[in-house]
Amino acid sequence: MTKASAPRSRKVRVLATLGPASNSPEMIENLFAAGADAFRINMSHGDQASKIPVIEAIRALEKKYGRPTTILADLQGPKLRVGRFAGGKVMLETGQTFVFDRDSTPGDAARVELPHREIFEAIEPGARLLLDDGKLVLRVTDNDAERIEALVEVGGRLSNNKGVNVPDVVVPMAALTDKDRSDLAFALEQHVDWIALSFVQRPDDLAEARKLIQGKASLLAKIEKPAAIDRLPEIIEMCDGVMVARGDLGVELPPQDVPPLQKMIVEESRKQGKPVVVATQMLESMITSPTPTRAEVSDVATAIYDGADAIMLSAESAAGEWPVQSVAMMNSIGEAVERDPRHGDRVHFTVTRPDPTTADAIAEAAKQIARTVSATAIICFTASGSTARRVSRERPSVPIMVLTPKMETARRSGLLWGAYAVHTRDVDSFEEMVAKAKRMALRHHLAQAGDRVIVIAGVPFKTPGSTNVLHVVRIIGDELKNHSD
Ligand code: PGA
Ligand code: MN
Repeated sequence: MTKASAPRSRKVRVLATLGPASNSPEMIENLFAAGADAFRINMSHGDQASKIPVIEAIRALEKKYGRPTTILADLQGPKLRVGRFAGGKVMLETGQTFVFDRDSTPGDAARVELPHREIFEAIEPGARLLLDDGKLVLRVTDNDAERIEALVEVGGRLSNNKGVNVPDVVVPMAALTDKDRSDLAFALEQHVDWIALSFVQRPDDLAEARKLIQGKASLLAKIEKPAAIDRLPEIIEMCDGVMVARGDLGVELPPQDVPPLQKMIVEESRKQGKPVVVATQMLESMITSPTPTRAEVSDVATAIYDGADAIMLSAESAAGEWPVQSVAMMNSIGEAVERDPRHGDRVHFTVTRPDPTTADAIAEAAKQIARTVSATAIICFTASGSTARRVSRERPSVPIMVLTPKMETARRSGLLWGAYAVHTRDVDSFEEMVAKAKRMALRHHLAQAGDRVIVIAGVPFKTPGSTNVLHVVRIIGDELKNHSD
């Protein structure tokens, strides 16, 4: 039996968005080699058919390297967009009047279609319309059910299908559009591991998505609306993971409000033991430049010091000129921060009190024992992945090896801080559990002869939710003999 290649020592996960710059099998492999742990497929762009070869390429890669790999399908959600222009784009001059209407005729410098009925009713004079991530600012002067007239306060170039934000009024939109429902069904058919829901406003939005997902994927809530902030703890409770979607959040709210909210969202997610992704503009300048600004590097580092589970690349890896370099930079920042001896202390500035359950008590004990006896890994046997989540929440100083008989669980754990998943056959006895833990630790380079590892499992075996055993194991070194699994 050959040994697997050495795992990444980095604990923070790197989530790379795929797109025109990186959809090919070669590029996906290059991004993986540079450090991408998980891939985001953005359903806002391109049609469903174009995603199939991308998903196939990731699964082929997974097979080639024997590493369960996470695929996140990001649903567009009720994002408001302008229609199309006759020439593809127009220039709006500051001070001019511009009209949004319900007419699908291509637009010009005086008008364009706004294909969202709800907005015409909800908007009112004085409210702002922010176009293209807030680059253009218009103020409503008049409106009725068919037409919105606005004064351009900050002009600029406007092109086809650019986003529209209306931060001053609540637009009563459903969380899942018809397109989202279709994209969701497609993504589940393709066996993606995570579904991201955009513009979540209420816990009910997640309940609706959950009903449709039926446990076939984990559910990630993108926090990008002020309304979601108001009910954050309930929203986090309703999902499996969270994204600090700073792009839209920073348009809906003043940008200076985003950093404190980012810290609050990361903290609340960690307290509830839900993985949290920090996203958008992390290495923005690398869309066109092979090196980032120092401020961007510092921003990524701050998210890691705050203990985020994952850091995300958007256009940098999807549509930029330097996708591989962007992933490599994320990887390097992760390694540098985690080499800092103060990193562990800083991550634990957020106190995550265990729930009064056996599983949480064992997860917390595992972290402490690992430190006391200088164990090199915590190895957990899990079917649902919930034990892995509990251990990850503790942010232990050593890698968390997730041994699971379920491939879905292995793949879904790719967004968990510090987790290293291995898909393997279940064990039937305590002896088998110990023997397998030793073999897997050696094979995946998480321990050497003489090292100790901590093993967590549920006895009786094959009973979900029974985590109740913590065993400290010393590795001898000859455990790899005569075993083929
Ligand atoms: P998006 O979400 O890239 O799908 O808009 C992330 C964000 O808004 O930050
Ligand atoms: Mn967004």
